[in-house]
Amino acid sequence: MPNAATQPVIEIANLTKSFGALQVLKGVDLSVQKGQVIAIIGPSGSGKTTLLRCINFLEEYDGGSVRIDGVEVGFSETNGKRRRRSERELAHIRVDAAMVFQQFNLFPHLTAAQNIMLGLVKSRGKSKAEARSIAEKWLGRVGLSAKVDAMPGQLSGGQQQRVGIARAVAMEPKVLLLDEITSALDPELVGEVLGVVRELATEGRTMILVTHEMAFAREVADRVVFTDQGKIVIDAPPALVFGEQPNERLRAFLARFA
Ligand code: ADP
Repeated sequence: MPNAATQPVIEIANLTKSFGALQVLKGVDLSVQKGQVIAIIGPSGSGKTTLLRCINFLEEYDGGSVRIDGVEVGFSETNGKRRRRSERELAHIRVDAAMVFQQFNLFPHLTAAQNIMLGLVKSRGKSKAEARSIAEKWLGRVGLSAKVDAMPGQLSGGQQQRVGIARAVAMEPKVLLLDEITSALDPELVGEVLGVVRELATEGRTMILVTHEMAFAREVADRVVFTDQGKIVIDAPPALVFGEQPNERLRAFLARFA
């Protein structure tokens, strides 16, 4: 039996993924302990988003495994036979790895509160009244108390993304997956979204974020993971990753942000 005290929340082993002839993940290993914040950085096309999406099986991996609290995400095994999980099982598991998307992905026909309530009622079994109260609490936490009943189209990009974060964190997931959540925002709106993430990071929430915000990664991450050509090349504390650079590829990558 794994030791609950040391078992990682997320354990990825030898993960592979191809799109047709293109192998995007070439054997990725990554372990994340409870409360850790992991920033994934790396060149465009190196597989960052695919890796993140494999964690909650939005992208189906080909080989290797992803475990959340010891439970494999995409497949189950009975009597030595491996089978892909049903959509119903997957929906259940995905609640534990809530994702925030670059393009917000709010339901445009639902209010801010309703966007948050939906998953709470459907996947967490909350009553509508409970869900509403949780939605109000989280909208307050992200500074949007005045926008509870606003439609996404009435909100700025930064406000929409704060609703997206509130929606994910309201599910109390075991890990929060943040996929380039500020990339679609006008520069003046980036700060308000990063401010929310910064607060969540200090609360001991487990997070994996794909980001191009190097200063932010340096500030909030416990570990920075550098991916290149489908592999993790470096997995180290920010002080090492952003310090003296013995790795040629990392140095070349970081030079673009200098
Ligand atoms: P990154 O996040 O590091 O920019 P991605 O994981 O988005 O990298 O993409 C890695 C590679 O996989 C890219 O070459 C991209 O074009 C390709 N890719 C991603 N998603 C798909 C898909 N659904 N179908 C085909 N190719 C894809």
